[in-house]
Amino acid sequence: MNKKKAIYPGSFDPPTNGHIDIINRGLTIFDTIVVSVIVNPSKDALFSVEERKEMLHSVYNSNPAVEIDSFEGLLVDYASQKGANTILRGLRAVSDFEYEFQMALMNRKLNPEIKSVYLMPSPEFTFLSSSIVKEVCSLGGDISCLVPTAVEKQLKKKFL
Ligand code: ADP
Repeated sequence: MNKKKAIYPGSFDPPTNGHIDIINRGLTIFDTIVVSVIVNPSKDALFSVEERKEMLHSVYNSNPAVEIDSFEGLLVDYASQKGANTILRGLRAVSDFEYEFQMALMNRKLNPEIKSVYLMPSPEFTFLSSSIVKEVCSLGGDISCLVPTAVEKQLKKKFL
């Protein structure tokens, strides 16, 4: 098993500069990061899984250290299949902590070999979430400094 491969799972609906900050920080620790869109049909999403993967591809196109994927089912099983023993997540504020703590302990119970690692983004991204970006864009606000250019284009297509 590759010790320096991490899975970064999330909805990424859409990817924001907060996600990108976590991935870029992660790349200073891990050799490879698999950014993986969680397929969750019961969660209402603005973008399809394919659209979310395309937006992530457009950011990391030329970076062989970043793999873009999607998965369904148990995260720990998926991580094992990918040969990764680390799950990477971002922590913005205390409000993220309770949920993340519960998930980390459950994942540890399911597979003690797989560790969870948390990184904090730059302070300017601690307020940022996919939902607030969607809301601001739907109301015509400027989101250019909140998301990558390719994501801004796709969001505008959806809303304008
Ligand atoms: P999920 O539905 O799994 O929370 P998200 O796409 O919202 O999926 O988030 C994926 C991961 O990225 C989570 O660990 C989340 O805390 C983290 N994250 C989201 N936005 C930010 C941000 N602005 N800064 C740092 N981490 C973030």
